[in-house]
Amino acid sequence: MSTFSAPKGTYDLIPPDSAAFLAVREALAAPLRRAGYGYVETPGFEHVELFSRGVGESTDIVTKEMYTLTTKGGTRLALRPEGTASVLRAALQANLHRAGNLPVKLWYSGTYYRYERPQAGRYRHFSQVGAEAIGAEDPVLDAELIILAADAYSSLGLRGVRLLLNSLGDRECRPAYRAALQEFLRGLDLDEETRARIEINPLRVLDDKRESVQRQLTGAPMMRDHLCEACKEYHERVRELIAGAGVAFTDDEKLVRGLDYYTRTTFEFVHDGLGSQSAVGGGGRYDGLSEMIGGPPLPSVGWALGVDRTLLALRAEEVAPGAPASADVFAVPLGEDARRALFTLVTALRRAGVAADFAFGGRGVKSAMKSANRSGARFAVVAGDRDLAEGVVQVKDLASGEQAPVPLVDAVEELRRRVAGSSPTG
Ligand code: ATP
Ligand code: MG
Repeated sequence: MSTFSAPKGTYDLIPPDSAAFLAVREALAAPLRRAGYGYVETPGFEHVELFSRGVGESTDIVTKEMYTLTTKGGTRLALRPEGTASVLRAALQANLHRAGNLPVKLWYSGTYYRYERPQAGRYRHFSQVGAEAIGAEDPVLDAELIILAADAYSSLGLRGVRLLLNSLGDRECRPAYRAALQEFLRGLDLDEETRARIEINPLRVLDDKRESVQRQLTGAPMMRDHLCEACKEYHERVRELIAGAGVAFTDDEKLVRGLDYYTRTTFEFVHDGLGSQSAVGGGGRYDGLSEMIGGPPLPSVGWALGVDRTLLALRAEEVAPGAPASADVFAVPLGEDARRALFTLVTALRRAGVAADFAFGGRGVKSAMKSANRSGARFAVVAGDRDLAEGVVQVKDLASGEQAPVPLVDAVEELRRRVAGSSPTG
């Protein structure tokens, strides 16, 4: 214990849990790599205005959750609360959209910061994997992203992730709907903050979690009944495409999501094993965002999946994400000459792509074998003076307990072959 502990609402990732975290992050990103998304990384902070304009002045993220600071030079910055605005800013800045190859498909992974009330699954520092497809209006693209996210969850062995789907209309049909909804909401018995929300972002009221509010929403006008022909047609195509890919979904006419910039397709992945923090990921189409941050019209769609909550969902389902063993081979030297010989072997194994570790600290064989077992390695390589005199090492299969000598000169090749042959994790 030191004098310090991590700030409230944050966490350290430490072994062995960090291995599962990495495995989740990797699994969420893998389908994107296979689908032509290129990796993008943006700074941890941006100009405040990028988020206040890009995420929306009326959102909880901007009004309550943003960490802001003023630099010594007087610049107002914010720790990034989400990825989309930054990624679009980066793509515009690099003129990726001008290369003539639309959509620009990008993926990212990183930590995000929101000043929230910390609780299970809700942190002030958390991690997302995200994807954005910039510059194309095509239901196939919306479907592609939704399918990639669903495939990522199922590749992890998750069975309880449900997809909620809605359309928020576009600038053709949403204004009239918005006015109709405002008219309805103004007649309800609501607190002052919610009444203010009616004027700024009335759709968000539909998303209110309180029972007292939800009860009054019966009979509220729904976007679904106000979609223009183009939006209706677009949404129908998206629904067909994801259903055709075998991805189940539920139409959720009240799904609006927290950000101002969404148009048409919106979706959320939820898991019922997480208590009130049920959203494991979400996204949608944001056709107006580029213009909002000073760019050309670039209809786009994207999502962000929460790594932390995905890990919690796996725990809730008691699924172990295929966390790789920290070592495939563990070397246990008996004596000083063996330490030198086996350290050379471990280095050679690592260079040959085999995860290998070593019993450091000159401990006794018993404690060294304990470390070997704890490392998750499949093979221990044990050698003492007599083995070295004979030019061999003992290779022990830690699962079966079988042990046999292998010539030291063949050890790298032999172990590489055996690890590859029996490896579920590579
Ligand atoms: P919520 O409704 O739970 O606040 P959100 O709509 O604010 O979620 P998004 O901005 O869509 O979340 O972020 C995408 C995903 O990132 C969420 O589905 C969730 O898994 C994760 N996430 C968001 N905020 C947090 C947080 N404070 N701590 C941990 N994970 C988070
Ligand atoms: Mg939130």
